[in-house]
Amino acid sequence: MNYIGAHISSAGGLEKTVLRAVQIKATAFSFFTRNQRQWISPPLIQEKIDCFKDLCIKYTFKPQQILPHSSYLINLGHPIDDLLRKSRDAFINEIIRCSQLGLMFLNFHPGSHLNKITENSCLLRISDSINIALDKTKNIVAVIENTAGQGTNVGYCFEHLSEIIKNVDDKSRVGVCIDTCHLFASGYDLRTEQDCENTFKKFKNLIGLKYLRGIHLNDSKRKFNSRIDRHESLGLGEIGKLAFRWIIRNKDFYNVPMILETVNPNIWAEEICWLRSQKNYN
Ligand SMILES: [Zn+2]
Ligand SMILES: [Zn+2]
Repeated sequence: MNYIGAHISSAGGLEKTVLRAVQIKATAFSFFTRNQRQWISPPLIQEKIDCFKDLCIKYTFKPQQILPHSSYLINLGHPIDDLLRKSRDAFINEIIRCSQLGLMFLNFHPGSHLNKITENSCLLRISDSINIALDKTKNIVAVIENTAGQGTNVGYCFEHLSEIIKNVDDKSRVGVCIDTCHLFASGYDLRTEQDCENTFKKFKNLIGLKYLRGIHLNDSKRKFNSRIDRHESLGLGEIGKLAFRWIIRNKDFYNVPMILETVNPNIWAEEICWLRSQKNYN
């Protein structure tokens, strides 16, 4: 079973995401658990939590089909202790919100060294942050997203992700989300079938399929290995449609939520429909 959807706006309330996902015939979706550009958010109201859960049941979205995304402000590898603590607190708060909503994942960007510490110590800080957060919470799996390697972001290669996972104590509560735009921008080619096979073979060898908890399906506005993160609609960027067809048809990715974060929400329904049609296309 393929779960396909998009990153849905939670404007007007988190419970609205479910109906918006249904409107575009999605079988997976993501959303920000709170305003992604503010540190403080009011706690979730029980009534809204119940409404979200009821709608998920009504429209048969299971927790493994929903991949909430954390705030961009959080840097779990922050080189400055005070700010690292602030990020860790915000991350724990987001995990708690996901638990309250009855979900099982929280997708996040690993962090940045800001040219103040080495990449390696940044990766260690990220693992420590995950350990602290998992220790203080229950059930939720922390899902690390690969990055394009823009600026001082770590997580732009499989070695980084596997290094973070290596130092996480509870391996059952850590996972990975692969963003195809970030993958391509960070130097993993996807333009031919052979490229796709090579790239995901590296993924299997260095990380392992069991850690794969989500895929972000995005084409890339920027060139291969540009280290710049600019999403594009499927087939309109530098990656091209072949990679997305290859992913959809690959049994390795069954039951993994696939989320569009492409630039034009008006064509998400069309993009989802196209992806589904590729299953049986020759
Ligand atoms: Zn992301
Ligand atoms: Zn992404």
